[in-house]
Amino acid sequence: MILSILIKNRDYFSSELWKKKEELRMLELMLEETEDVLREKCKHNWITDFIDDKNGEQSNIIIYCQHCGISLKKETHKNSQTHKNSQTHKNSQTHKNSQIYNEIVEE
Ligand SMILES: [Zn+2]
Repeated sequence: MILSILIKNRDYFSSELWKKKEELRMLELMLEETEDVLREKCKHNWITDFIDDKNGEQSNIIIYCQHCGISLKKETHKNSQTHKNSQTHKNSQTHKNSQIYNEIVEE
């Protein structure tokens, strides 16, 4: 009976979705922890660059470390995959970033 197949599918999809979400959450967490350590340990060499937004209407300034790829400010857009700076990460914490940013500016 087709209904039983649909029910099976529904169960499968929802459990797969849950698993993927957990996986995402874990990855985000590990990324965040890794970046925290990098932020402390790396002798950063900050580079300023511009990335176009997805419409190509405006450019955003990003500052990222040449060595570890961490970005200084949380202004990288999620859809900048095609750009060479797509390795800069999206989940960096705003507060820490602006702190570091201030330190750099004051130097
Ligand atoms: Zn670095």
